[in-house]
Amino acid sequence: MLKRSKTRPLNVGGVKLGGQDKVVIQSMTNTKTKDVDATVKQILDLERAGCEIIRVAILDGEDAKAIKAIKERIHIPLVADIHFNPDFALMAIEQGVDKIRLNPGNIEDEDKIRAIVDLAKKKRVPIRIGINAGSLNKKYKRNEVSMIESAKDHIRILESLDFHDICLSFKSSDPIETIKAYRLAASTFPYPLHLGVTEAGTLIDSTLKSSLALGNLLLEGIGDTIRISISDDPLKEITIAKKLLKACGLYRDVPTLIACPTCGRIQYDMLPIVKEIEEYLNTITKDITVAVMGCAVNGPGEAKGADIGVAGMKDSALLFKKGKVVMTIPQKDIIKVLKDEIEKF
Ligand code: SF4
Repeated sequence: MLKRSKTRPLNVGGVKLGGQDKVVIQSMTNTKTKDVDATVKQILDLERAGCEIIRVAILDGEDAKAIKAIKERIHIPLVADIHFNPDFALMAIEQGVDKIRLNPGNIEDEDKIRAIVDLAKKKRVPIRIGINAGSLNKKYKRNEVSMIESAKDHIRILESLDFHDICLSFKSSDPIETIKAYRLAASTFPYPLHLGVTEAGTLIDSTLKSSLALGNLLLEGIGDTIRISISDDPLKEITIAKKLLKACGLYRDVPTLIACPTCGRIQYDMLPIVKEIEEYLNTITKDITVAVMGCAVNGPGEAKGADIGVAGMKDSALLFKKGKVVMTIPQKDIIKVLKDEIEKF
């Protein structure tokens, strides 16, 4: 497994973040936090999909008060995302939240900052300082150096109060800017880094930008936790996060699907098979590589690394295991046979 940068480990409600080779997957709900039933349902779905830490937005006192009831019904650490209002931060910590996202430099009342830090220390609640390229203080020009300087403004406040359970993020909607900021952060701060591209867009755009930015950083050993942000169902964030970590050699128990793009050699109906097998694989947690290939000319050879695969013939497919052909399956039975074989693996 790839070695990670050594960062100062945090305990987020029993989940270790930083100071290890494991990268933690997180997401954020898009329900109204005060709607406890809807929020809990979404979190439980995300948990089942593999989410390890979940964040909720705190917009008012009702949201902050909902934390206790939500926490009682979920099994992963809960993070409160708070902008500006120190009272919501205090309420969230009182309600048992496991971590808060808050930029202390945005709070003018020093007594309130001290109160938050004192309570966070007492309850062992880490704080994430989140720097976004698009919302830097006006005194800064937009670039990665300013993002680091802005983080230092916030970090200084916490460190001056002897608070060090800090996590940092440096998000931009531009993947290159994101890479530059996190590289600089990794060489500047000892604190764990939460990676993400912000406002990354819908499924295709976000997958592309997140893979480019986070993939590069992860391969350099940078990043302790990731959030893929997509304008879509947050469950898709988890699927992409797992696949990205697996592609980087940082995750095991998720299947890999190999599929050829198809060409004029194809003689069976392959695309519905790929679609259904992909959906099926997204529901299982197994370290298995499955191939769905268009033809027997190149299929088994090109997918030699697959544990199980099919390669198309005329209205049928060859089933192969580790590159060796096992049997021929008629078109109508391909999906069933392949699913049974995956299940048995
Ligand atoms: S595996 Fe066969 S069908 Fe698929 S792209 Fe290669 S040659 Fe074409």
